[in-house]
Amino acid sequence: MEHPHPTSRPPHLPLHLPQRPLPEKPLLISANDPTHYLTHSTYRLYSQRLALGLQRAGLQPGDRVLLFSGNSIFFPVVLMGVIMAGGIFTGANPGYVARELAYQLQDSGATFLITAEASLATALEAADAVGMRHDRIFVFNDNETDEASGPNVQQDRPKGVRHWSHLLAPASSARIFAWEALTTPSQTSRTIALNYSSGTTGPPKGVEITHHNYVSNTAQTVALARLAPDFEAMNARARWLCFLPMYHAMAQTIFCVAAPLRGIPVYVMPKFDFLGMLEAVQKFRITDLILVPPVVVALAKHPAARKFDLSSVERVGSGAAPLGREVCEELERLWPPGKINVKQGWGMTEGTCTVLSWNPEERSESFSVGELVANCEARLVDDNGNEVGPGERGELWVRAPNVMKGYWKRPEATRETVTPDGWLKTGDIAYADAQGKFFIVDRKKELIKVKGNQVAPAELEALLLEHPAVADAAVIGVTINGEELPRAYIVLKQGTQATEKEIQDFMKGKVSRTKRLDGGVRFVDVIPKNPSGKILRKMLREQAKAEVGDS
Ligand code: AMP
Repeated sequence: MEHPHPTSRPPHLPLHLPQRPLPEKPLLISANDPTHYLTHSTYRLYSQRLALGLQRAGLQPGDRVLLFSGNSIFFPVVLMGVIMAGGIFTGANPGYVARELAYQLQDSGATFLITAEASLATALEAADAVGMRHDRIFVFNDNETDEASGPNVQQDRPKGVRHWSHLLAPASSARIFAWEALTTPSQTSRTIALNYSSGTTGPPKGVEITHHNYVSNTAQTVALARLAPDFEAMNARARWLCFLPMYHAMAQTIFCVAAPLRGIPVYVMPKFDFLGMLEAVQKFRITDLILVPPVVVALAKHPAARKFDLSSVERVGSGAAPLGREVCEELERLWPPGKINVKQGWGMTEGTCTVLSWNPEERSESFSVGELVANCEARLVDDNGNEVGPGERGELWVRAPNVMKGYWKRPEATRETVTPDGWLKTGDIAYADAQGKFFIVDRKKELIKVKGNQVAPAELEALLLEHPAVADAAVIGVTINGEELPRAYIVLKQGTQATEKEIQDFMKGKVSRTKRLDGGVRFVDVIPKNPSGKILRKMLREQAKAEVGDS
């Protein structure tokens, strides 16, 4: 199956901010203070300043730089600056505890750590755990000058740690900093970002996203958007709002890469805040809402949504986790009949961002997650890798220019996930209708998604085994009141005892909020496994559903 409207071969275009002059309008704008913004040229100049500064600070080609921060108008500057310097960007979830951050620092082998001011203590704990030099740690905030962060903050900083402005080379020299134009296939296949994902199995892994992946995924989604008859006018008046986290593939690709390339202004919120989002939509006359299911549900159900003027909104889309049609219809009732049609896309970190998306010309009346983006092929296969019949369910495999290069330093995991001829095994079960619309019906892989965030059962199981009373453990997702939550099944060591609360508390200190065992803990005699020792998760999921889940 292929997308019905393929583009020509995805271009080997420079990803970096286009040299062709774009109107000098605000492009990345702080939603908290809209007088604080970057235009195309200041975005480029800051990126050049950081790129040159990183090189002067010792960054070598291919070195990794980790950004540990919520959203900021300077977040895309760090992404672009690292790429322009020839480095590899990796963003970490700002909610991480030190153990989780240390894992990513170690796994990526980052040699620079740029951390939000408020997260400095966590960052230092993680950096010390992996033996990172303090003079490679920089404090990040929405200000580009050290003075602006205040004298107290500076005094409190441990020796060696500096404000990120020390990484910015002077504008006069940076203005002429020429970065390598990545235009040949060998250059564009270079890895420029590591976005962490556990994929179909095991712990979180660095997904190697290349320059070509980003350019392709932008071209692919634009090709679909172009099917709208008024595309140019729509693009010209678009105003987007970003509250989804920029460390994750979805917001990173849409807001840090695609929007600036399309010249679409993005109002940046530091993090999600329901009322703040409504205020921002009203105040900045936002045209597009790019949401994840929990936000769709909140908007549809929360009475406050009816108190704000949302009339500027022209399009609403959702992705990252399953969403029911009824709630979409509920949300559509916030606008006059027929105005808004909530549509869904489907994506995966290993596919850069978007793989299936909606056709702007068609109304969505179903659970469909849309059609294949341009230049993307799909197969639906059974457990033996054979294609299923038309309309039947199978694991979705995709092959496209937006499929990752592989997992960072994990050739075996890469081989398990991408076939030698380039098919990405998504681990999602889907079917397609006669019109080429896809429906996601189940998940074959272990991954749990909590409020759109990835939770890797393997990571939680390994932590549970550190508890002195735990002999064996399995973690699966259970849906309670429409929300997927991690639930543990535990075998206790002989002669030991533990309560559900003790196990939950034990995990609390070790993991970020979304990974807590809020789906409950159940003690069992044995974890069901197949003869080769693989946990029979499907069986446990059925059991959990019968015990506490939604019917
Ligand atoms: P991530 O790599 O964090 O973007 O997670 C990718 C996974 O999220 C997919 O493999 C799916 O399991 C799930 N997912 C993403 N979009 C959707 C969607 N529209 N409907 C159902 N599941 C989705």
